[in-house]
Amino acid sequence: MDRKINVSIYNEFLHETTVDAIRAIYPQGIHGTIKGFLEKDGAVGTIRCATLQDHREALSQAVLDDTDVLIWWGHMKHNEVDDNVVAAVVNRVINGMGLVVLHSGHASKPFQRLLGTDTYNLRWREAGEKVRLWTILKNHPIAQGLGETFTVPHDETYGEPFGIPQPDEQVFISWFQGGEVFRSGCTWRRGEGKIFYLQPGHETFPVYHQKEIQLIISNAVKWACPLQRNCVRDRGGGNTPALEP
Ligand code: ZN
Repeated sequence: MDRKINVSIYNEFLHETTVDAIRAIYPQGIHGTIKGFLEKDGAVGTIRCATLQDHREALSQAVLDDTDVLIWWGHMKHNEVDDNVVAAVVNRVINGMGLVVLHSGHASKPFQRLLGTDTYNLRWREAGEKVRLWTILKNHPIAQGLGETFTVPHDETYGEPFGIPQPDEQVFISWFQGGEVFRSGCTWRRGEGKIFYLQPGHETFPVYHQKEIQLIISNAVKWACPLQRNCVRDRGGGNTPALEP
């Protein structure tokens, strides 16, 4: 790659501004913590942040056109994300922009539109259970530097059945203390774009401070980055004369 990877981070940024215990974990917001560790990655260039409050400007078409990979964390107010922004995000992914969707972003509009199914569907429980992630595809770029398995000490429990279309690649699977299992690291391609979903990251636990989770997100940014930042998908085709006589 002859350029640095431009990353934009959308974080709803409501929990951190309304709940003291969550603000204590993420004083600069979840987006601030993610920006903080990505800034130390020499492969990453410009990092921009957007919140629910400013996303119409902060995820403008100009910003999206200059973004290689968009990271998305949302929870309470998916429905308040502007449909015009969602349409622009979906269009950019189809044309090559990478998308990394975190935790409750499974119910976000861009993820649902791109995957085309009821990704909202899953079991959940806020019990602070231990989670054990297993690397299924050890040779996958997103799994590099990780061992076979590691634990997140406490997180929200998610459980199958998860209403996603069958992933193109199943990179991680998780076991939860209460007995559930969950497809916690999945990839898809839509158009020219690569999509990665990572389950860990409930706002009341310091999951994005954990080094294994930071490594997965850093790896995912590199994996999802398109070779060309702003390629427009070739929509050739249609009624075509024969090339051969
Ligand atoms: Zn959650």
